[in-house]
Amino acid sequence: MAKRQFKSESKRLLELMINSIYTHKEIFLRELISNASDAIDKLYYKALTDENISFNKDDFFIKISVDKGNRTITLEDTGIGMSEDELHENLGTIAKSGSLDFKQNKESKDGIDIIGQFGVGFYSAFMVAETVTVETKKHGSDSGYKWESSGADGYTVKETEKDKAGTVITLYLKESTEDENYDEFLEEYRISGLIKKYSDYIRYPIKMLVTKSRPKTDNEKEYETYKEEETLNSMVPIWRKNKQELSEDDYKNFYREKFYDYQDPVKTIHTSADGMVSYKALLFIPSHAPFDYFTKEYEKGLQLYASGVMIMDKCEELLPDCFGFVRGLVDSADLSLNISREILQHDRQLKIIAGHLKKKIKSELLLMQKNERENYEKFFAAFSRQLKFSVYNEFGREKDFLSDLLMFFSSKEKKLVTLTEYVERMAQDQKYIYYASGTTIEKIEKLPQTEMVLDKGYEILYLTEDVDEFAVQMLSKFMDKEFKSVSSGDLDLGEDENKEEVIENKELFAFMKDALGDKVKEVKASKILKTHSVCITTDGALSLEMEKLLNSMPSDNKVKAQRVLEINADSNVYKKLESLLSSDKDKLRKVTGLLYDAAIIAQGIMPDEPVDFADGICELID
Ligand code: ADP
Repeated sequence: MAKRQFKSESKRLLELMINSIYTHKEIFLRELISNASDAIDKLYYKALTDENISFNKDDFFIKISVDKGNRTITLEDTGIGMSEDELHENLGTIAKSGSLDFKQNKESKDGIDIIGQFGVGFYSAFMVAETVTVETKKHGSDSGYKWESSGADGYTVKETEKDKAGTVITLYLKESTEDENYDEFLEEYRISGLIKKYSDYIRYPIKMLVTKSRPKTDNEKEYETYKEEETLNSMVPIWRKNKQELSEDDYKNFYREKFYDYQDPVKTIHTSADGMVSYKALLFIPSHAPFDYFTKEYEKGLQLYASGVMIMDKCEELLPDCFGFVRGLVDSADLSLNISREILQHDRQLKIIAGHLKKKIKSELLLMQKNERENYEKFFAAFSRQLKFSVYNEFGREKDFLSDLLMFFSSKEKKLVTLTEYVERMAQDQKYIYYASGTTIEKIEKLPQTEMVLDKGYEILYLTEDVDEFAVQMLSKFMDKEFKSVSSGDLDLGEDENKEEVIENKELFAFMKDALGDKVKEVKASKILKTHSVCITTDGALSLEMEKLLNSMPSDNKVKAQRVLEINADSNVYKKLESLLSSDKDKLRKVTGLLYDAAIIAQGIMPDEPVDFADGICELID
């Protein structure tokens, strides 16, 4: 029979599995059991929703047996089974979900280490087995099939006799070597230990024939051994257990296994309610964003269980967009089993649960912000974009709900601070929450516009992410204090604005405005400059940073912020400009252009004609 080749990614994964380091090998059992349980879930669910199929509770189980003589481990399940096509599709190609995540990460510095930590699926069998066979029969079909492979060089599928629907997987263990002992997986205590460790919560009984001893009937002083079938798992899912019974590690292991993450979550929320609706929820806040989080492909949602049976993998109605990164599950006895997606959308119970969870997540985040700042910073580094975007999105519908979760870099503290922290330590005479935006902290610190505010001793929030200014403008106020950009021209810094007394040379500014044409809205004497000579500020809601961002998006409609060229009337440059006005208008025109270009370069924007700028500078030196 001709061998089929694995799809290329599958082959690479397979090679990794075969050569993985020893300590991770034990997880093969957890992976195969979890697949078996999923397969039974599928059939169970089908039976619940199709009245033509009926089952006994006892019909669903997973059975493990070991054969020391032949050095095999066999796993039998009474699940849905696979058709011939499904065998090719599922076991000849890399699977989606966890395995895909794995692909993305496996070249990372953690490399092979991640194998031990999350779901890598069926192929993990090859960490311990030389040869693997899968005999399977799909529920409702007449024929069974046998898949067989000895690793990376391919697999075969042929028809086989199988009386019941379900799947039997047989692992032919590798020979033990000096460093690696595979024979231990043939020991009952080892198998039952692994099941307790990784698969205790599996909903179906995991049975094994275990060796026991009893006094002989004819001679009670002597003992004989016999085999008895035992169920090795407690079958209580972790979210139904008492919090007191559970350790931090129990939650972490469950999270990694279930949600295929190789890093621990920053927060676990185990909560329940009884009353109008009753439910149990187990939620996790990841410590990093999945690679596809900020793409259209990412689907938010929680797993939904009705009385312990999973009825939906990603129920999006349970999570608001702003917390779309939360992973976890909800189990409620108040939901019917064969509820459809359409009905769910309008389900009142579900809405109530979603409302509770939204509040709960927020309050846990706030607690973390207060008591575990380091963890919160980790969380914030991963998901601040989501929070800020949600503040801005939908016309600011969620802005008040989310504002106290935000943090920005503080000029004073040199680290991220919350808005509450900022407002609470504002100076008595300070009216506004000042902010400055730019691409990096270092660049913002040097902006001429920040000088006066910093000199006053006021704190400035430095906004470096592209969504920041949109979020801040949408907030417009926090605890009754208005936000004000240091680039807005009028900083309203109170009493000592002696610059106001400057007698503006109206003629000079009119001439300069004329020279610049529609590049600027106005040229004026600055109220915000101290040591610097010129800068650009903007008039209106659109800032230069926002202009940059909006214009970088694919659209024909380019926007333009209303620019104002500000001149420091105390500077020598100003005096020079005044004298040029009477002596050399032509030169004044050129110099004005250069000043404008210099001011926008300081903002990180290229002049329209960089070569003209360079030539102009040279001419000036000449
Ligand atoms: P994953 O479980 O992440 O999808 P796997 O590589 O473990 O990836 O499995 C691939 C697919 O093979 C599964 O999604 C499932 O459809 C099928 N499969 C694996 N084991 C079984 C089984 N015991 N019974 C039925 N189908 C199975």
